[in-house]
Amino acid sequence: THFGYRTVPLAEKQALVDDVFHKVARRYDIMNDLMSGGLHRAWKDALVSKLRPPPGTRPFHLLDLAGGTGDVAFRVVKAGGAGTRAIVADINADMLAVGRERAEKRGLSEQVTFSEANAEALPFPDMSFDAVTIAFGIRNVPRIPVALKEMRRVLKPGGRAFVLEFSKVDVPLLDKIYDTFSFRVIPEIGKRVAGDAEPYQYLVESIRRFPHAEAFAQMMREAGFSRVDFTRMTGGVVALHWGFRI
Ligand code: SAM
Repeated sequence: THFGYRTVPLAEKQALVDDVFHKVARRYDIMNDLMSGGLHRAWKDALVSKLRPPPGTRPFHLLDLAGGTGDVAFRVVKAGGAGTRAIVADINADMLAVGRERAEKRGLSEQVTFSEANAEALPFPDMSFDAVTIAFGIRNVPRIPVALKEMRRVLKPGGRAFVLEFSKVDVPLLDKIYDTFSFRVIPEIGKRVAGDAEPYQYLVESIRRFPHAEAFAQMMREAGFSRVDFTRMTGGVVALHWGFRI
């Protein structure tokens, strides 16, 4: 099947994305584990080690954008001290509802709060966060440069933004295996577990269209970030980018 997402206008693209996550919200966490073979956990842990929230009572405020069910925020407050707080912001109320339940179960409702927000128009004042993270979210945002500028705007000077996202596999043979896996296996898992292959077809397409790591680093610089750098993981399946607001 082919779904012509490439030609979808921006407003419709967001509607399509919202529909995907509305459909999968309740099964999102289990699907994540199944489709990445649990690897998303290691990728998120790597992000948290780079971010290194401070120990002790020093206040540290994180905005976890497109934070969905709270995975990154939970990890950051666990790694940080008593002063570490996180806001999970996401455009999708269904994903946030799952996140809130998870926070309660973990006893983290004090440290982690949830906010319905569009990454392209953040409802937060300038310079309010020590760090902003977005994991597997930026490729879903219709206007990425707008979201990057918003991320920079809400950062305090000296604060850092981290973008964890699927990238381009740069290892021969692994790229072939990855192609087969993503085009055949992922939609098939989607069909069996969530009862629908289409949302996952979209997922694979959106990964394919996302820029190379160097090109994305350049987009971050153009949004005003300084000292932009990145690291590839798992042969380039995923890249972690970061940049400072000076
Ligand atoms: N960060 C979480 C994680 O790593 O498990 C969730 C990632 S999930 C693949 C992508 C998330 O992006 C969804 O929860 C979706 O609702 C959110 N999203 C899509 N477009 C958005 C936008 N314009 N603004 C904020 N969040 C958005």
